[in-house]
Amino acid sequence: MPHRLGGRVLRRSDPGYEAARQAATWHAGTPDRFPAAIVRASSTDDVVAAVRLARDEGLQMAVRSGGHSWAGSHLRDGILLLDVSPLREASVDAEEMTATAQPGLRGSELASALAERGLFFPVGHCQTVCIGGYLLQGGFGWRGREFGPSCMSVTGIEVVTAAGDVVFADADHHPDLLWAARGAGPGFFGVVTRFHIRLYPLQRVTRNSFYVYPPEAWEEYLRWSRSIEPALPAEIELWNMMYRDETASTRGPVISVSATAFTDSEAQASEALAVFETCPVRGRALVAEVNQATTTAELTRVGSEAHYPPGMRFIADNMWTHASFDDLLPALRAIQETFPSAPSHMVWFPWKVHPQRPSMAYSIEDELYIAVYAAWERAADDEKNRSWVTERMRTLEHLATGIQLADENLVNRPRRFVTDDHLRRLDQIRAVYDPDGLFVSWLGRPELD
Ligand SMILES: Cc1cc2nc3c(=O)[nH]c(=O)nc-3n(C[C@H](O)[C@H](O)[C@H](O)COP(=O)(O)OP(=O)(O)OC[C@H]3O[C@@H](n4cnc5c(N)ncnc54)[C@H](O)[C@@H]3O)c2cc1C
Repeated sequence: MPHRLGGRVLRRSDPGYEAARQAATWHAGTPDRFPAAIVRASSTDDVVAAVRLARDEGLQMAVRSGGHSWAGSHLRDGILLLDVSPLREASVDAEEMTATAQPGLRGSELASALAERGLFFPVGHCQTVCIGGYLLQGGFGWRGREFGPSCMSVTGIEVVTAAGDVVFADADHHPDLLWAARGAGPGFFGVVTRFHIRLYPLQRVTRNSFYVYPPEAWEEYLRWSRSIEPALPAEIELWNMMYRDETASTRGPVISVSATAFTDSEAQASEALAVFETCPVRGRALVAEVNQATTTAELTRVGSEAHYPPGMRFIADNMWTHASFDDLLPALRAIQETFPSAPSHMVWFPWKVHPQRPSMAYSIEDELYIAVYAAWERAADDEKNRSWVTERMRTLEHLATGIQLADENLVNRPRRFVTDDHLRRLDQIRAVYDPDGLFVSWLGRPELD
């Protein structure tokens, strides 16, 4: 007897369809794309049944876990949208330092369950992001400069394939499927129902220095930051943010600096954070909270509330670069001079390429990550903000090594997110596991050389 989905299939004319469609994206700017059906899965059997339903009805499919794709990549016209957010189980083996977790689990929930046991996994910086989409696209989380993109710590996956089979992929079974799942992001061609991950010991000490510099100091601060970034130790995470502080009487956007040390001792943390006290514009800081004890949970809460409030419309775009400050400066000036209102912001995030990156689809990163995010309220302002984000990143793209899928804007500006060889290999693996193209692919893709 086949497993039945019963009333969990919403068609376009059903009450509840539009609410489910709107809820499929975390931010309020849900794109005008309309699936033929929306199915909510509460078990792997439901997922298999949804795959069969899509095949029977000749529909393509897309999957949603936490719905944080800025572009709403899983919202497409005429498809079956599968919502796996109810899949939220996790299990931890503290002795083996491993865990399994389902895609609808929030990274912050996983992190607090692990912290209680003295364990750590590099989850994302925002409270509500779920691990499904996060781990597939790479995953740039806390302590990512030490452990690399989080997909590096994925050792296996349970996947429902386009044929409706439940398969386990790891280094010994379907290794090509695991290879693809570590970096394909919204172009993955299967439904991940469980991740197997490697864990790390929780750091003993977390200390943070936070500064805010006035608009007049942005150029000097970022020039100095760029000069110290290559020597920053891996256990320091630095977030420079540009945004308008609507509560202050400053002219133009400010720069906030959040430097966190994840160390074994307070002395190491103090030593690692000391460099931020030597910044040439330190005396002009509007706020300076130096070397304060904190937790990643607290930093996540504060950052999410400040920069990612719910109920607003968002668009993001980004790039990796190793360009000098002087080369970046003209385009940065144009960003700074035209900055939209808060909570729109620019992220400047120095990265460390992990020396032992395994072979996986994920393949483009560089020393500095720059991303811009516009946030606004009225649909009438959609075009203005789409254009600001896309055009500002376009003026920087001659300096880009590529982009991240975390903050992709492929529908407006398709650029390289994996190497050309890896994109070809992804196409080949897709042809094996999804020969009929059941699963939708990226919203845009770069031309191959
Ligand atoms: C407020 C906010 C903060 C963020 N902070 C960070 C951060 O700190 N670090 C970082 O790396 N990224 C960050 N991101 C980006 C985020 O990680 C990605 O958008 C990620 O894809 C979100 O995962 P999700 O499951 O919540 O989203 P979803 O939108 O559900 O997933 C994104 C895409 O992945 C695919 N997908 C999702 N689940 C599955 C599945 N189970 N099987 C197969 N395919 C699936 C679908 O194509 C879907 O469109 C942030 C995004 C937001 C909105």
